[in-house]
Amino acid sequence: MSLVAARLNAIKPSPTLAVTAKAAKLKAEGKDIIGLGAGEPDFDTPQFIKDAAIAAMNKGLTKYTPAGGTGTLKKAIIAKYKRDNGLDYTEKQILVSCGGKQSCFNLCMALLDKGDEVIIPAPYWVSYPDMAMMADATPVFIQAGIEQGFRITAAQLERAITPKTRMMIINSPSNPSGAIYTKADLEALGAVLRKHPRIVIATDDMYEHILLDGSKFVNILNVCPDLYNRTVVLNGVSKAYSMTGWRIGYCGGPEELITAMENVQSHSTSNPSSISQYAAEAALNGDQSCMVPMVAAFKERGKFVYEGLNRIPGVRCANPAGAFYVFPDCREAIRRLHENGKLKAPTDAALCEYLMEQPLAVAAVPGSAFGMEGYLRISFATSMENLKKAIDRMNLSMTPEK
Ligand code: PLP
Repeated sequence: MSLVAARLNAIKPSPTLAVTAKAAKLKAEGKDIIGLGAGEPDFDTPQFIKDAAIAAMNKGLTKYTPAGGTGTLKKAIIAKYKRDNGLDYTEKQILVSCGGKQSCFNLCMALLDKGDEVIIPAPYWVSYPDMAMMADATPVFIQAGIEQGFRITAAQLERAITPKTRMMIINSPSNPSGAIYTKADLEALGAVLRKHPRIVIATDDMYEHILLDGSKFVNILNVCPDLYNRTVVLNGVSKAYSMTGWRIGYCGGPEELITAMENVQSHSTSNPSSISQYAAEAALNGDQSCMVPMVAAFKERGKFVYEGLNRIPGVRCANPAGAFYVFPDCREAIRRLHENGKLKAPTDAALCEYLMEQPLAVAAVPGSAFGMEGYLRISFATSMENLKKAIDRMNLSMTPEK
């Protein structure tokens, strides 16, 4: 008899963390391997943010805080939503959690009932389906590959909606594709959602500040403000301020739902680290130009990786508009490498294994982990030197012998 609840039958460990761990293990064993799996900026947390944490500790602010976050951090978040997104919230509409991941988990637990359906555009951030399933709901995927710029269309959304649909997730800029939904895309999706008042919209704006194509950030509430009463805007400090280890995420939304989410949190983790909350407050209230060098580096690297990957036979890569990932279509290369006996199977997982086993190895994450077979997710949150080597290595391993 299994010791594990039936509810968890379909839940898998995070595949992105698994690749990072495998690459780290091979590296520790002395293997020459370049990791392209990282889901975090390779920059240090800005000093003024660390100083705020040190000051908080020295002042003795090291005790429990209200479960949903300190009043001063909530004020900073309200000011941020107003400043960056033109959105108005009260303190009761804000929840601070242990990372954006917990915000999302709280939302699933607070909103979803057994049998509810959650629409998730694929490729998707790996945790969305598992979180929906942990809440006993059913994920419903909409495929949006490179042919359609990794953005679902309004017609696809319309077709996926059923009377059981309870939530829809939009993640722009996207992990893993780097795609951004335009104002027009969001208007079209909003026009469909407007007709279905039971659907709650989760907009995951985690990569809001990492825009590489010169566009201005917009989310669905900026173009469809009438959806305000059923939209939760998820965000956090992890990516914008290189604060992945501090574990602070936050969201704004309808008071009833936010209160229920806070209840979930109050009985699971209670407040996020008090010290991290003071650091996050400094980050949100501080000089926002601290992000400029990081975003400039991601722009340069994104262009380099996109151009380099497109030179590999059988690989097609879209120019990343945001975040620090590309999601090259490797279907043609996989087919050929498999035919030539290099891959154990005609799959992206076999391609990743092959790339990791080469004497000059690279570690990328298979697209299938993000709900799309035949692709790779490549993170360019690593140095230009590593990226140059990685592209050379992939070229070497994936180019047919003459
Ligand atoms: N949302 C997306 C799309 C992400 O890629 C991530 C992290 O990888 C998160 C949310 C959660 O971030 P964190 O829990 O580190 O704040």
